Amino acid sequence: MNTFEFTHAPIDAAALAEPLACDAAGGFASFEGRVRNHHAGRPVTGLEYEAFEALGVTEGERIVAEAKSRHGALAARCVHRLGRLGIGEVAVWVGVAAPHRAEAFAACRAIIDEVKHRVPIWKKEHYAEGASGWVNCEHPGPVHAAPAFDYSRQRALPEVGAEGQARLGAARVLVVGAGGLGCAVLTSLAGAGVGALTIVDHDTVQPSNLHRQPLYTASDTGRPKAEAAAVRLNDYNPTLRIRAVTQRFDAECASALVAEADVVVDCTDNFASKFLVNDAAVRAGVPAVLASVYQYEGQLQVVRPDRGGSCLRCQWPEATRDGLVGNCEQAGVLGPVPAVLGQLQAMEVLKIILGLPGQLQDELLLVDLLACGQRRLAAPRNPGCRDVCVRIESVPVQSTPDDLDVDLPLAAAAAAGYRVVDIREPMECKFEPLPLSGQQSLPLGRLLDGGLRVEPDRRYLLVCAHGVRSRAAAEFLRARGHANVWSLRGGLAAQGG
Ligand SMILES: [Zn+2]
Repeated sequence: MNTFEFTHAPIDAAALAEPLACDAAGGFASFEGRVRNHHAGRPVTGLEYEAFEALGVTEGERIVAEAKSRHGALAARCVHRLGRLGIGEVAVWVGVAAPHRAEAFAACRAIIDEVKHRVPIWKKEHYAEGASGWVNCEHPGPVHAAPAFDYSRQRALPEVGAEGQARLGAARVLVVGAGGLGCAVLTSLAGAGVGALTIVDHDTVQPSNLHRQPLYTASDTGRPKAEAAAVRLNDYNPTLRIRAVTQRFDAECASALVAEADVVVDCTDNFASKFLVNDAAVRAGVPAVLASVYQYEGQLQVVRPDRGGSCLRCQWPEATRDGLVGNCEQAGVLGPVPAVLGQLQAMEVLKIILGLPGQLQDELLLVDLLACGQRRLAAPRNPGCRDVCVRIESVPVQSTPDDLDVDLPLAAAAAAGYRVVDIREPMECKFEPLPLSGQQSLPLGRLLDGGLRVEPDRRYLLVCAHGVRSRAAAEFLRARGHANVWSLRGGLAAQGG
């Protein structure tokens, strides 16, 4: 017997009560919630219920277990109907067997109250004069009742207004990854009233996440992130439809999830997922807002296949391997860095939904939170990316050229005729100068912006701190036809050790 379940079939109270029979029970209490024929003065003809089933069952089972232990009940269960119901039908049933009547009543009452409060169920009332919208069961009533969440401060913006607010309410946004970026994105989009949010994340909450992922509390440790985030956001703004997907975001689910979204937000920390988001978005013609963070820096890119804009592969044609960009675990991160980048992502999402000016397209925004600086770099369509941008169909992952890395002491490389290009940021160069003279200094951002004049008859060796950015930059230039560019393996850290 499941202690909490959803059913599409009519509820048979006697059958449900049978397994609760228990010789030690002196009391049995049951409750039936039924569909009535009026609500808030309007005649009702029927109801429809919808739920987040997986999340709802987990939460429902937890509620039943809590009530049993708190009130000393012997057995208890709750069943909630879903789908279309007529007047008089039983929508929810609770049964409790306990040693005495007081415990049975108390546990029964606690279960129905908590289910109303905590289980993600929505209902749509059908009135004699037409249907109302979906409302969260915790806040039943016609959609035009006093709003549970007041958007007046943002509606006051002339660019938003009632029409913009309605657009936000009708928008469906898919957020891939509920980590540091995702927490910021989700909070802002839920606050703005984006009507339907889908959260995909297969990870569970870890204590090491908490410093930068404030949607979770210490007691969420071990819970699936998508679920914990959905519960928290549902408390924050119960007027929204928030859906948790706890499976891995893979090629199988990517197209379906992306296709039903108006905007996709990439909040993952690895390149494989970013390419999945990019490719699915391009294929479906859905805008995607991508961001990544590395220590104190972040990068933002908006992919607009709906406007013929450039995509992630236009800049990174080689399917870059994981580990090329350090994740937070390896590289370390301060909480505000993903928070700032996530807020920038949320802002771009709102700009897209509301049609506000200044939308990022064919550009990269680089943010350096140590230097308090930000730069916009051109990131145009790469004509070589036509296969991806135009006809994407399962792009084969190209293997990275083996001969991209050069393993030489810098002085020897210079002596061998390589033109050494230091692509680190000026601050890094100052702290740890190259053990060399005559090198060219060109930060990665400027290089990606086309700042390196590659002469065909010279050989170039790109250098950074650990050989990660330089390898990415070399791949970037190779993909643009410059075969005479290499990366110093292991970067400066591997020199003279
Ligand atoms: Zn492209």
